[in-house]
Amino acid sequence: MKTMTCQQLGGACDLRLSGDTADDVIKAQDQHLRAVVAEGDTAHAPALKEMTGRWKHPIAGMGWYKNTKKEFAALPED
Ligand SMILES: [Zn+2]
Repeated sequence: MKTMTCQQLGGACDLRLSGDTADDVIKAQDQHLRAVVAEGDTAHAPALKEMTGRWKHPIAGMGWYKNTKKEFAALPED
């Protein structure tokens, strides 16, 4: 289990997101962004837009994804 913050994933707060794989924390971040923006948060809106864009354009989003996976791999286990 490893932990990344919302900020490390391009978001706007220091919420900690845990998971066994980079995909888990990316999915958790995706859900967090959707939830707070749905509640009217504007600070996370640009991050949600970027995240949504990555799903729509997987090739263009691959650089971010690879980078996040690398960062996740370098983290110590919780
Ligand atoms: Zn956040």
